[in-house]
Amino acid sequence: MDLDLLQATLAQRGQPAFRAQQVWEWAARGASSYAEMTNLPEALRADLERSVPLSSLTLEREALARDGTEKALFHTADARPLEAVLMRYRGGAKHSASVPDPSRGGAKHSASVPDPSRGGRHSVCLSSQSGCPLTCSFCATGSMAFGRNLTASEILDQALHFRRKEVSAGHPASPSESDGAVAPPRLDHCVFMGMGEPLLNLDNVLAACERLPDIGIHPSNTTISTVGWIPGIDRLAERNGPTIRLALSLHAPDDALRSELMPVNERYPLADVLDACRRWHAARRRRVYVEYLMLGGVNDHYEQAIALAALLAPRTAFKVNLIPYNPTDSSFEGSSRDAIDAFRSALEERGVPATVRLTRGRDIDAACGQLAAGADAGARAASAAPAR
Ligand code: SAH
Repeated sequence: MDLDLLQATLAQRGQPAFRAQQVWEWAARGASSYAEMTNLPEALRADLERSVPLSSLTLEREALARDGTEKALFHTADARPLEAVLMRYRGGAKHSASVPDPSRGGAKHSASVPDPSRGGRHSVCLSSQSGCPLTCSFCATGSMAFGRNLTASEILDQALHFRRKEVSAGHPASPSESDGAVAPPRLDHCVFMGMGEPLLNLDNVLAACERLPDIGIHPSNTTISTVGWIPGIDRLAERNGPTIRLALSLHAPDDALRSELMPVNERYPLADVLDACRRWHAARRRRVYVEYLMLGGVNDHYEQAIALAALLAPRTAFKVNLIPYNPTDSSFEGSSRDAIDAFRSALEERGVPATVRLTRGRDIDAACGQLAAGADAGARAASAAPAR
């Protein structure tokens, strides 16, 4: 919902200031129409129905993967494409660490206490821009034309799309509304790993993050992923800055290869980026998640694992996540399972914590930019279902 338009419309109608907050609270809980907003005067509901669309985005296409991953392709009012992905993870305590519990005034469940009312974690992957100005050579979004920064409302509307779907599927607005029965998992994590570079649109990304808790996503369950845009990392490290988590797309252990894969490295070289990450770690006392895409024969050699381990000091500041490559139209191929395992062992033997990312939604082109880039090129993803 375009919150600026909502505010302006309410002001024009001479409505009291609290109305905008009332409407937002309904939207954040997953309301699908103004008719549901029963604490608003009926005439106002009908008026808003006509003048403020419930979402600033139009759903163009949806795709549901066999593993439950769901991808949505939208366009903005000015026809810019963007996409968002919902990842559903099964399991109880393992994946439900640190979830906000509105019934306890926002207090967090402890990760070590299994919560039988929770069935898993739902994580939404959001876009911060339509297209991306940074031309990483392996990335489908990087091959599209850059559109523009998304507004805070356009960012929030991606999450609200999936929130509404959860509600219509019978998921309660909060765990406390589940009457003690086993509550289905609900949206509680967010990663800015969709299209675009979030640190190039930081004001709008942070404005969106301020409202995510109303949808059920706590800042400590929100992760911003960056190519290493140093001014943005430093802003996130400011005193009284947000408690959002930081992920760095590193992808190569030396400047020559990294600049080849990610031209932005020419501007912000590896050593400077890692220094910025250390400053962020010192300010937040959280590990930086290092994303390392596994590209067969390019960055997956044993020596490169050793070089990567040497970069990541102190050990307490970093954790590596090895990412199996989702093939796109680029010339890159993903590393073999054996190469990924060997790379991981080499890191762990040197005291660097490393995990391998679960690959989600491969059958629906769920990797960064793939669906929108396909649409951009006029292509049709074979497995995509028509939008409902
Ligand atoms: N611009 C930010 C966030 C968007 S990309 C960044 O670069 O971090 C989110 C992550 O997806 C990045 O780590 C990116 O390198 C990765 N990615 C891009 N294309 C991919 C692909 N085809 N398969 C797997 N991961 C990919």
